[in-house]
Amino acid sequence: MKIGVLALQGAVREHVKMLEMAGAEASPVKRPEDLEELDGLVMPGGESTTISKLMHQYDLMEPVRQMGRSGKPLFGTCAGLILLARRIEGTEDSHLGLMDITVRRNAFGRQRESFEARMDISGVADDYEAVFIRAPYITETGPEVEVLSSLGDRIVVVRQKHLLGAAFHPELTEDIRLHSHFVKMVRDSRATPVI
Ligand code: GLN
Repeated sequence: MKIGVLALQGAVREHVKMLEMAGAEASPVKRPEDLEELDGLVMPGGESTTISKLMHQYDLMEPVRQMGRSGKPLFGTCAGLILLARRIEGTEDSHLGLMDITVRRNAFGRQRESFEARMDISGVADDYEAVFIRAPYITETGPEVEVLSSLGDRIVVVRQKHLLGAAFHPELTEDIRLHSHFVKMVRDSRATPVI
């Protein structure tokens, strides 16, 4: 099983390391050819408009979208979650537009640029420590989207079939439970394709 990590911006090495610790083979993705033979893809945090521009520039937007449409698991974290979203508040544009959610960017406000929070993630992890950095949260979810975790009424972890999204940076702690969950999603999708 091989999982890629989109390597245009963000903590790529940390994601690779955590996927390996979770039992997968992992490799950075910079060009469309790097997507060949992957069973899943992680999209790290960073700045979503910049990552999106680079994805267009490197001809990665359409092949990643196709990968998601064909049922291969995608995991978007922070900016990666924004890339997955079908709707972004305040703009008509979206990036991959695959997940039936609305996101609000930089949603926790200036005073809370970055913070840590402990939370339970349904079916994934109890007492999980999450690092938020200029994080978005999810304001609306469609019928196929499962909410796995919220901070009050702010939704921060979601799953829609083979798509997983988290508003924080799971690669910045030592806790591999979310990566392990994604590795399991990839393993399951190989056994039983969702599409
Ligand atoms: N605020 C960033 C954006 O809108 C996301 C921040 C992050 O990935 N840490 O793209």
